[in-house]
Amino acid sequence: MSDNVRIIFPDHSSREIDKGSTGRDVAASISKGLAKKAIAYELDGELYDLTSLILRDGSIRIVTAEDDESIQMIRHSAAHLLAAAVLELYPDSKFGIGPAIENGFYYDMEIPGFKGDKDLEAIRSRMKRLIKKNIRFERRELSYLEALELFTAQDERFKIELLNEIKDTGETISVYTLGGFTDLCRGPHVPSTKFLASFELLSVAGAYWRGSEENEMLTRIYGTAFHSREDLESHLSFLEEAKKRDHRKLGVELELFSSKGMGGAGFVYWLPKGTIVKENLENLWKDAHRQAGYQLVSTPHIAPVELWKISGHYDYYRDNMYFTEVENGEYALKPMNCPGHIIVYRNSKRSYKELPMRIAELGTVYRYERSGALHGLMRVRGFTVDDGHIFCTADQIVSEIQDVVRFALYFLKLFDFGYKIELSLMDPSDPEHYAGEPEDWAKVEPLLAQALDDMDEDYKTVIGEAAFYGPKIDIKLRDALGRYWQGPTVQFDFNIPGRFDLEYIGADGASHRVYMVHRALLGSVERFIGNLIEHYTGNFPGWLAPVQLIILPITSVQNDFAERLYNKAVDAGLRCELDNRSETIGYRIRGAETGKVPYMFIVGQREEESETVAIRRHGEGDIGTLSIDEAVKVVVDACTRPALPERR
Ligand SMILES: [Zn+2]
Ligand SMILES: [Zn+2]
Repeated sequence: MSDNVRIIFPDHSSREIDKGSTGRDVAASISKGLAKKAIAYELDGELYDLTSLILRDGSIRIVTAEDDESIQMIRHSAAHLLAAAVLELYPDSKFGIGPAIENGFYYDMEIPGFKGDKDLEAIRSRMKRLIKKNIRFERRELSYLEALELFTAQDERFKIELLNEIKDTGETISVYTLGGFTDLCRGPHVPSTKFLASFELLSVAGAYWRGSEENEMLTRIYGTAFHSREDLESHLSFLEEAKKRDHRKLGVELELFSSKGMGGAGFVYWLPKGTIVKENLENLWKDAHRQAGYQLVSTPHIAPVELWKISGHYDYYRDNMYFTEVENGEYALKPMNCPGHIIVYRNSKRSYKELPMRIAELGTVYRYERSGALHGLMRVRGFTVDDGHIFCTADQIVSEIQDVVRFALYFLKLFDFGYKIELSLMDPSDPEHYAGEPEDWAKVEPLLAQALDDMDEDYKTVIGEAAFYGPKIDIKLRDALGRYWQGPTVQFDFNIPGRFDLEYIGADGASHRVYMVHRALLGSVERFIGNLIEHYTGNFPGWLAPVQLIILPITSVQNDFAERLYNKAVDAGLRCELDNRSETIGYRIRGAETGKVPYMFIVGQREEESETVAIRRHGEGDIGTLSIDEAVKVVVDACTRPALPERR
């Protein structure tokens, strides 16, 4: 009988240690510094508290703040710290759940007497006090009944509900105590509160217990925590910047759109200025698509339910669709444009000579999203997809895919978005999950990879991420804050051509099943404009700016001259405004700056006498005094629509 266990370190060296040593003992046996930095250990791929006993052989790794997984532990532990502080300040509080999330953590609690944001400061300073005391996380393992007794004694009804759900399986249940707060939790956590010094509480929101509207509303406090003060500060300034760029706030300030109130949540009402942005984007899109060999079509917003039954949407997507009745027939608003384009394709017998056939439409679709999921322009219930479908033969796949990827990058580069490409393939261990013949997948998947390889584009292959109907290429766009968003997508479809019998007559005179590709380059036009607003902080490129130029006479004496300039600018095709209100010039300049108008012409007596204008560029200030024609030309040049992609 041995009281030792053998542990193997990441460098493959191994050592016998006393059975029942802790992770901290192991760290300390390596170095004092490591023992101080250590926050947990990993044994055979699983994370444990530093104080957990090592009772078996295995591969061990000491986890420190520098390791990726520790950030989640820090955040999750900070949620316990938050709860401990809340319990000290509000002893009647009841606790729901407190997970780490992307970029932070939250805790859902019932806090009698809590008055919202203004009470956060008290909680924050109580958390700091607990950090100073460097309190340890103490783990205990209880039987199911002991755990139930414990939380019943504390009258923690949410915890009891959670326990009732996991039932008594005979396994022990771990609880963690931090100061006066004991929580039901699997762990692991950081050893003590000193590891949580770089935290911040961010906001308060209401949240239904377990996300269900039938349950009571709890208070959710959001926070975040990092390894270092420095990381925390840089994250907070990122949040500050994101807030400044929030498209919902800028959408109101710049009078671009409205999306709540009596118009119905999740439906976007484009105001005149927003419509200018949208229309200019869409016009470029249409011209670029014609140039790229697409035929534009226009299909209805409503179609008979039968169509959605054939397409499969009725079976798989019904919960997200809106239905209506017409002359006793059931109809549905379209959640996608594909069936409309299929009707276009099936309108006549197609010959191989017509392929590849590229059909596109700015098609508005309607999808039911829960009100809690709605978010400005990013998540809405009605939006326009820049949808396109390509019908082609196997031989045409590689060049069609490359064209779509190039075309997508044309749009992203137009707006200086960064990007990353993902190639999503099927999971070969689960062929049942996918529509279409395995041979088709085996033929097409390598072609997608080849298309990207030949273009010299970096991409990541993700196995198992394909749609059930086909492999796809997703391009994520990266905005000015380094955030990634859903972007262009190219998806193969082995499902729909069979459902709709999509064929063409080949050179051999026989019928063949056509290959079908769905693609969207902007995705949702609404979301894309939301991205543009945040990416540019509302400072649209000149060709999209709702107002490109504003003319400001310094006094009313220059009103006639200003009007002449205004007419000249409008004749030159500029979207121009004349602001000759009787406000001070400073006030009117500030107005134009807040409105993010790219150019201002400021004219006083001197300018009128010399037939010149003083130009101001938004965010830059004065850029000089020019003759009228030169000045107009500067603005026209800066507001010219970008060149279309090459014709094919
Ligand atoms: Zn925990
Ligand atoms: Zn489609």
